Amino acid sequence: MSTLTILEFPDPRLRTKAEPVRLFDAELKQFVADMFETMYAANGVGLAATQVNVHRRVLVADMSDGRDEPLALINAEILEKDGSQVYQEGCLSFPGIYADVTRALKIKVKAQDADGKEFVLDVEGPLAVCIQHEMDHLAGKVFVDYLSPLKRSMLLKRLDKQRKQAASA
Ligand SMILES: [Zn+2]
Repeated sequence: MSTLTILEFPDPRLRTKAEPVRLFDAELKQFVADMFETMYAANGVGLAATQVNVHRRVLVADMSDGRDEPLALINAEILEKDGSQVYQEGCLSFPGIYADVTRALKIKVKAQDADGKEFVLDVEGPLAVCIQHEMDHLAGKVFVDYLSPLKRSMLLKRLDKQRKQAASA
């Protein structure tokens, strides 16, 4: 396994729309394993293929405290959405930046596993947030897109400042 390089905002490649996965081969399984390794190494709870510059509909997540409930969703599609929740989100492509985003509370999602086997999941709460956030990445969307222009420019200035501090440290 190997860790992959995570693209950081405002990298324009984060705006790429991912293509569906059609071939469930050994290469895909290796890629999914590398995505988990990359997510765990970065202490993230979710990662979309877009963030590692692979534009295929693959996302991984693990919201468990023990970091032992890996979930890979390939070609995920939301079938139903219900309710709403506000959750403070972060993103590996925006290190150190957090913002409240409103999303559906519950979702019913259809996806395939790394073998191509289809399954349907009913999720709610933080895991539902995570899956919606990662599915946005696959559509070329990022969480700051939901914020008001003022709030967004404030956060992006902070991101810039942190980068300059990190570069001079
Ligand atoms: Zn993200």
